[in-house]
Order: sequence, then C-alpha cells, then structure tokens
Amino acid sequence: MKRVAVLGATGSVGAGTLEVIRRHPARFRAAVLTANRSWEALDALALDRDPDFVVLGTPPPDDFAPRWGGEWRFGADALAEAAGLSGIDIVLNAIVGFAGLDATLAALGAGKRLALANKESLVAGGDLVMRALRRGGGELLPVDSEHSAVHQCLAGRAVSEVARVTLTASGGPFREWPADRLATVTPADALRHPTWSMGAKITIDSATLANKALEVIEAQTLFDLPYERIEVVVHPTSIVHSLVEFRDGSSLAQLGRPSMEIPILWALGYPDRLDDQRQEAGFDPVRDGPLEFEPVREDDFPLFRAGVAAGRAGGEFPVAFNAANEIAVEMFLSGDVGFRELADVVLRTLERFSSRAIESVEDARRVDARARTIARGPYGESKSGDAE
Ligand code: NAD
Ligand code: MG
Repeated sequence: MKRVAVLGATGSVGAGTLEVIRRHPARFRAAVLTANRSWEALDALALDRDPDFVVLGTPPPDDFAPRWGGEWRFGADALAEAAGLSGIDIVLNAIVGFAGLDATLAALGAGKRLALANKESLVAGGDLVMRALRRGGGELLPVDSEHSAVHQCLAGRAVSEVARVTLTASGGPFREWPADRLATVTPADALRHPTWSMGAKITIDSATLANKALEVIEAQTLFDLPYERIEVVVHPTSIVHSLVEFRDGSSLAQLGRPSMEIPILWALGYPDRLDDQRQEAGFDPVRDGPLEFEPVREDDFPLFRAGVAAGRAGGEFPVAFNAANEIAVEMFLSGDVGFRELADVVLRTLERFSSRAIESVEDARRVDARARTIARGPYGESKSGDAE
C-alpha cells in the first residue's frame, strides 16, 4: 500500500488523481490532501477520503468552519513540509505555477517518488530540481501526458539512442483561426479547449501555445535531451501523446484517447501497468483515425517561439519566461490585456534578464519575483498596486 500526498487536490489533475486512487484501494491511499485557498472544496474531499491530515496553503479565513474533524495545517511551509514527510511514499504535485517548486524540491530532497504535473517547477527549477533528484535518490515520473508518452516509449533506453523526440500539441481552440481574428479572442473563447478539460492557467497556455514551450523545456530537463532533438507537431485530436525516434530509424509512439488518468496511473504505478478500470473504450484505429498532423503556426503564436528561445538561452530566461507568462495569463483573465498582448508582456519582461546561471532556490525566487513585478509593469502597478 503506497501512501500518496496529493498536492493541489482540488484542481483538475488532483481530481483525476483521486479517481485513480479510488479505483485502486489495495494499492494507494490518499494520505495527505492540499489546496491553496478553497477550504470548502478541500473539506469536502477530506470528508470523502479521511486522509491523515490536510493542508491549506493560506491561513484559515474568517469564515473557516470545516465539517471534517481531522487535522488541518496551514501555510506554504506546511505544504512543502508535507511533501517531505517520512510516512509518504509518493508525492503527486498538481499545484499550478511556480508555487509548486518548494514541494517539488522537498519531495525529491526526501527521496520520494515525485509524480510531477507541475511543469512550472521543472521550467523554473531546472538544474536545481535535477540536482535534488540525484542527491535525494528518489524518482521523478512525469504526469504531463506528452512526457509520460516519452517516458513510456523510452522504456529506460539511453538518451544517446534517441534521434529525436516529437511532442504533440492539440493546437488549442484557435488552431484554425486566421491571424487577424486572434486580436478579438476573449477569455471565454480561450477557456474552451477542444480536447482537454483542465485548470484555467494551463488552458490559456494551451491557447497561446506557451504550454508547448514550457513542455519543450520540461522535456529537455527531464530527459537531458539537447533542444535540437526536440520537435513539436500539431495533432488536433490529442490521440498520439508523443513520439520517440531512435537512431536505428524506428519511431515509437504512445496513444490513447485524451484522459489524464492514463499518465497519472503510469506515474503512480510504474513500473507496473495497472488495470485502467474506467470502462472507457481504448484507442480504436478506425474510429479514432485518421491521425492528422500539421506544423505549429509559430508566427501567429509568438509565445511558443519565445518560450523555446528562453529555454535554449538558459540561466534566468526560463524562470523569467515562466513568471511573466503566469502574470500575463492573470492579466488576460482579468481583462487587463488582450490575447495578442500576452506575448508583449512576456517579451518586454524577458528583455530585462540574462543567461546568468541560477545557482540556488533563492536565485530562482529572486528572478521569479522580479519578473512578476516587471511583467505587471504599468498595467498592474496603476491598477492593483500589489506587485511584490
Ligand atoms: P487547477 O487550477 O485545476 O488546480 C490547481 C491546484 O493547485 C488547486 O488544487 C489549487 O488549490 C492549487 N494551488 C493553486 N495555487 C496554489 C498555490 N499558490 N499554492 C498551493 N497550491 C496552489 O490546475 P490543473 O489543471 O490541475 O494543473 C495543475 C498542474 O498540472 C499545472 O502545473 C499544469 O500545468 C499541470 N498539468 C495539468 C494538466 C491538466 O490536464 N489539467 C495536464 C498536464 C499538466
Ligand atoms: Mg501536456
């Protein structure tokens, strides 16, 4: 029986994880559940699952009156601590954004299996995360579907045998929109993803293709692959989750109808292939075909190119890209900037950074905080004044 800490339990990946755990009661138990602010949702989950304790990332609000009588802990430190506890076997990090970095480092530092959905911690934490993995002696299993696909296709083979990895992208809701119409995109349009149902931040990232840039950096870091050997192709139905071409000319792909429960099950159960138990039909070549692919419209979705360039340039750039993108998404969702200005916010922020190496978590935190302030810039400072 593996005891799982589900960080970000009230979110979309968190919900998928709790479903997978529910289907495998003899193998997994949700021992810790966390959320950021939504204590009512966390309370409902705790009543249902009766974990050892729960953690809210923020202090208890004034109206805090939980029905679940178990132990509540509060604050960002309690959150990261929960990831390193001795009674925990697997940490599933489904927190959104840079806020997930401390938990990633704590889990790996304590030698846990980290099932990682929080790609932002790999993008912003890069070498720090991989160093924590080596030092702590734990395991890092990707939950992101494309990286789960690559992990499954690699099946432990050396990166030196890989000719290239091709990550697939759905292309988002605007895949077929002409460039001039993109200026009219509203948050409601962008929140309507064609193939995946996900949290708001990653849904916007999928619409701008910033998500795919984050995933290229994630793949580079996870698999230690040079950027030259990572490609992206648009695949509108999200059936082929990614491909690995080996040096001998063979390409392997992992396929499945889009559901995060498949990569979650792999990350929790690896190296075993556990029973899916969803009663869903698997991939059917006739019904699910034809499988179509097309190139990324890099000129029309500039955050893709900017993100990959930031990853290649390294140092402060990926940290700043991630932070500025988080702020740009917030500003877009609150109506402060339009869809096309998302990239402007990120690009003008990146200009202020360099490829100076990130040596410590403090460095990463400093760059992250500074990039957020710069990204908010004239919009945020005049409006909310809450820049750090
Ligand atoms: P979501 O918005 O649905 O859920 C986010 C969770 O994180 C919530 O439980 C929330 O309470 C918690 N949280 C938010 N801010 C926090 C903070 N500052 N401190 C602590 N906890 C905080 O997001 P999601 O769609 O489930 O995505 C979670 C992560 O997984 C993201 O990094 C995303 O990129 C990645 N991911 C998601 C999917 C998907 O299908 N949703 C697929 C691949 C990767
Ligand atoms: Mg993905």
